[in-house]
Amino acid sequence: MHEGLKQRKSHVNLDFPFTTVLRFMQLLLKSVDFAARAHRDQRRKGAAQEPYINHPIEVSRLIVECEPGTEEDILCAAVLHDVIEDCGATRDEIAACFNDIVADIVLEVSDDKALPRDERKAKQIETAPSLTNGAKLVRLADKVANVGAMLTDTPIGWDEKQILAYVDWAEAVVAPCRVVSDGLSERFDAIARDVRIFHQSELKEAGK
Ligand code: ZN
Repeated sequence: MHEGLKQRKSHVNLDFPFTTVLRFMQLLLKSVDFAARAHRDQRRKGAAQEPYINHPIEVSRLIVECEPGTEEDILCAAVLHDVIEDCGATRDEIAACFNDIVADIVLEVSDDKALPRDERKAKQIETAPSLTNGAKLVRLADKVANVGAMLTDTPIGWDEKQILAYVDWAEAVVAPCRVVSDGLSERFDAIARDVRIFHQSELKEAGK
């Protein structure tokens, strides 16, 4: 290993056997490949119309940055977290391609699209305390990414009030998930503060 990298990352345990690192990379790339194909026809809601896959990649990146020791199954679940809800993939399909741990985390963080929108949103608040720790981590990172998008790539057609209500709702969902990561909780607070400052001033300016 490069000496400079060793020094910079000395707080992270990098002494994994090479075969473990290879297995980790194989599983992670397999999940990226699966998610990219599943989301291939989808775009994010913002004006930039980014490819949807950018979102699950961001969510998994946030997790490795804030919690570098996260298990591979949780990271794979982060990459796959929207494939049941948005692409119609099934829990069993994910279990067959990956394993039961990955499949169960993805299922835990998937909304039931058969329910009306408001009911789905209320359910996320209700169920957040009983999520497993892996699902809490994915949920928390997902909200950091989605609230961040309210600043960088605001959904088309959303007004300030809608955006501010979204941040309030996301804050309620992540409240019981904070226990799994101080780093992600801090990122959430920082981005929520910035989104509120920006959109509250926009609201004032518009005299709404
Ligand atoms: Zn998501």
